[in-house]
Formats: sequence, C-alpha cells, structure tokens
Amino acid sequence: MTPSDTLDLRSTIRTIPDYPKPGIQFRDITTLLGNARAFRRAVDELVQPWAGSKIDKVAGIEARGFIIGGAIAHQVSAGFVPIRKKGKLPHDTVRIAYSLEYGIDEMEMHKDGVSKGERVILVDDLIATGGTAEGAVKLLQQRGAEVLAAVFIIDLPDLGGAAKIRKLGVPVRTLVQFEGH
Ligand code: AMP
Repeated sequence: MTPSDTLDLRSTIRTIPDYPKPGIQFRDITTLLGNARAFRRAVDELVQPWAGSKIDKVAGIEARGFIIGGAIAHQVSAGFVPIRKKGKLPHDTVRIAYSLEYGIDEMEMHKDGVSKGERVILVDDLIATGGTAEGAVKLLQQRGAEVLAAVFIIDLPDLGGAAKIRKLGVPVRTLVQFEGH
C-alpha cells in the first residue's frame, strides 16, 4: 500500500453547520487545500480518466474553482480560463444568466477565453443543484468549445446537479459525496 492509499479525502474536508445561513452544511475545502497530500491527490484523481488525452484548456469557476483548476491546468499542461461573476473581467466578454437556489445571477468569460473546437475540462469545488455548472457549460459550448468533462471534489447528490450536467451530455467526475444540503 502506498502512503496515499491511507489518505481519506473526505476527512480532510471541514463541515461548518448553519453557514452562511441556517440549514446549510458548508463544505469547507480550505482544510483539504492546506493538506499537501490531499491537495495533490484531489488534483490527480479528478483528471485521472483523461490522463493521456489532449486537453487544451481548463475552465475554473470563481473562486474555489480557480485554485483547483489552476493546479489541474498545470498538471495536464493546459491553459487556464476564468469564469467569473459579471463585471470582473476587463476585456470583451460573453455573459449568461444562471439559477441559484433563490433567484438568478450572471457569469462571464472572455470572448477569446476559448476557441472553436478546443477541448475543455470544467472545474469547481462542489456541485449542488448544478445551476452554476450548467451556466458555465453553456457559456463554453456557445463559444464552440468541446466540454470533455465537468469535475468537482464534492457532490451533493440529493440536489441532483451531477445528473443535470450528465443530461447535457457532459461526463461528470466527483470524488466525495455528502448527503443532504
Ligand atoms: P449549485 O449551482 O447549486 O450547484 O452550487 C454550486 C456552487 O455553490 C459552487 O460554486 C459551490 O462552491 C457553492 N456551494 C453550494 N452549496 C455549497 C455547500 N453546501 N458548501 C460549500 N459550497 C457550496
């Protein structure tokens, strides 16, 4: 057994009850990121099915998707594209509205962030209802990118997000599942 086999990724994630509001179990990945072995393991495992495939870009969703996505991009020798809340990117952007638990918001990507036909992996820390990831997939596809997969450290399967993204024809990979919200 190698040392990494004994590492339980789930135990490196901290849960904060009732944050940011009552009833939400906030899954805090700062404790995973602060653990060198866990961080490396998460990055390696998220892209393992595509090891050896050509990946042009990794797209990360603000803000925790930047940390994980940046590390993945380096690992697979791909470029990195930020997907941000509206109004933060300085050059010409494409924008899409996406649904949140209550209401809607908008996210943006630079128009030249991806080119037609580029093979992209989408990254965020966690998928819940899938509204955020769905918006990001559509933004990438609108610009002609081929979304190879969407990857997340954490899945909240009861909220149905991963199933929603798979219905769009995009494979989903997650490493740790938590029940409930
Ligand atoms: P959703 O669009 O519902 O899939 O929500 C996903 C986004 O909200 C991700 O960017 C997550 O970081 C964040 N998020 C949603 N629920 C949680 C939670 N329980 N703990 C931590 N982050 C969450």
